Amino acid sequence: MAQNNIESTLHENRHFPPSESFCKNSALNHKKLDALYVKASEDYEAFWGDLAKQELDWIKPFSKTLDDSNAPFYKWFADGELNVSYNCLDRQLKDNANKTAIIFEGEPGDIQHITYQVLYEKVCVFANALKKQGIKKGDRVIIYMPMVTEAVVAMQACARIGAIHSVVFGGFSAEALKDRVEDTQAKLVITADGGHRGGKIIPLKNTADQALSKGCKSVETVIVFQRCNNDINMQDGRDIWWHDAEQEQSAECEPEPMNASDPLFLLYTSGSTGKPKGIQHSSAGYLLNAINTMRWVFDIQEKDVFWCTADVGWVTGHTYVAYGPLAVGATMIIYEGVPTVPDAGRFWDVCARHHVTIFYTAPTAIRALMKAGDEIPQRYDLSHLRLLGTVGEPINPEAWMWYHRVIGQERCPIVDTWWQTETGAHMIAPVPAVTVTKPGSCTRALPGIDAAVVNEQGEALGPNQGGFLVIRKPWPAMIQTIWGDDQRYKDTYWPYFDGKYYLAGDSARIDEEGYFWIMGRIDDVLNVSGHRLGTMEIESALVAHESVAEAAVVGKPHEVKGESVFAYVVLKGERPEGGVDEDMTNELRAWVAEQIGPIAKPDEIRYSDNLPKTRSGKIMRRLLRAIAKGEEITQDTSTLENEGILLQLQGKA
Ligand code: ATP
Ligand code: MG
Repeated sequence: MAQNNIESTLHENRHFPPSESFCKNSALNHKKLDALYVKASEDYEAFWGDLAKQELDWIKPFSKTLDDSNAPFYKWFADGELNVSYNCLDRQLKDNANKTAIIFEGEPGDIQHITYQVLYEKVCVFANALKKQGIKKGDRVIIYMPMVTEAVVAMQACARIGAIHSVVFGGFSAEALKDRVEDTQAKLVITADGGHRGGKIIPLKNTADQALSKGCKSVETVIVFQRCNNDINMQDGRDIWWHDAEQEQSAECEPEPMNASDPLFLLYTSGSTGKPKGIQHSSAGYLLNAINTMRWVFDIQEKDVFWCTADVGWVTGHTYVAYGPLAVGATMIIYEGVPTVPDAGRFWDVCARHHVTIFYTAPTAIRALMKAGDEIPQRYDLSHLRLLGTVGEPINPEAWMWYHRVIGQERCPIVDTWWQTETGAHMIAPVPAVTVTKPGSCTRALPGIDAAVVNEQGEALGPNQGGFLVIRKPWPAMIQTIWGDDQRYKDTYWPYFDGKYYLAGDSARIDEEGYFWIMGRIDDVLNVSGHRLGTMEIESALVAHESVAEAAVVGKPHEVKGESVFAYVVLKGERPEGGVDEDMTNELRAWVAEQIGPIAKPDEIRYSDNLPKTRSGKIMRRLLRAIAKGEEITQDTSTLENEGILLQLQGKA
């Protein structure tokens, strides 16, 4: 563990109170929010228990809110029974049957509006089809689909019959798919012939065939949705078309009564930091936090058009596409493709044409669209937007300011939401009509979330002292375990503090006003001449320079200092010839020294056209660290858009 605290060097003092126009129509005001905090602190169990009664429809009510007898394997609402799909669909039919649930837009431009009634019927038909294929409660089903409505239908159908789904992102390789199939021992795989992405057809079925040919003995059936009409092979006795599987299936399917803590899904984390872990989530607790964060953080209302751009392959696409918006009866957008087809205006075009009011995306997308320039978003009517959100990585203050100014037109609050696959839903985030935001801070923990920053003894640190981000009380949507590996669950998340605090794995500080600032991952902390520095602040200082679009910082072993600061930089303009530009390097070094202090000055800067990212768009600092050391690259680099980048990063091109 850390020897001393992590030093903070970033000084960001800009404040943005919510605009009047936003506050006028928001559901949650100061008074109501304060009442929530008070209740959570006075009676924690009653706080969550009452919310669970209010927000969820139960088949059998629970008698105990929290069972902590086998901590850290906490059980919420343990003897209650409900069905998640019922809570997302059936209960909307009474008042909202004809309301649009999903506006789907394919990358080629095809558009569909699907009402709650139609979605309900689609889910029931497909749930019956799954049953016909022999899928029962507790069976695992792998979903390897493009970002189309049917991906959500498949997830909801599993939930309806009590099968445990595990969605694998459509961009993952055969190898990654095979690992996940084998770890879950899935009986059935749902895929598509292909999906449209980046102007190409992604051959999902072919990749699935490759994965299954390498083992995967548990798989009996493959259901194939027809999306692109590309050529595929259908294996006799194993493969069946989605439309054939649905033949003669009824549009009614009784929802299976599930115990509150029966697993709803498994989701493997992206692996930014190592071997993927199958994060297991519950039914009731998970859905509860999905619902209450839709209300508290997204202020979701009857007329909103909600768009979370995340793929269903990530937790964000579970909580804020497949479950949260439906459970509150919202209208949402599902867009199949990438933000840059046919050009970097696509997201804004979708927002303008469908009158999107709430838009939620990742810093990596914001930085990429920012790099494309202000003129592009300015071509579109973004006046329907009222709230913006971000998730996935710390957002650099300059990217935040661009989002605020150019997309939000200084009218829309920004909710910077800190959470993880493991936490199930937002944990630290602004409440948009109440919180005064600061660029780069995810602000405060939500009601009922006991987040803190502590040292290695578990003691809370003072203002602006960097340390371990922990959650000191269990919460409903928390991870239940790592699938099939209880020990790894304990070792990863509860290793210190007598196993009482959940260790998030991120470093953070809390400022004098109680705002959280994520500083990076614990594993990425640099140690320069005895000063422990997070990656986020140095990167943000670099991005704040007018010529820099994106930056990643890692430590490189250094004889005297222990580690030196090594920076990879993507410039807004052209990459300098051969990746060398001494003038720019001197300027950036001086800039960082001036912005945050000489200790953080990069010793070396390498320029590239892009940075290596995980499939969910996060910077792969682990890979960059290896490159900085001059080590052989052993990591999977198949995610790199352009293999030539690797040579650039290594300083060989
Ligand atoms: P793995 O755990 O396999 O390495 P991962 O951590 O990238 O993968 P996720 O669960 O998708 O997988 O990401 C959660 C992490 O993303 C957080 O721990 C944090 O490091 C980062 N993160 C998410 N949202 C924010 C945010 N708003 N601000 C800062 N960091 C964030
Ligand atoms: Mg993680």
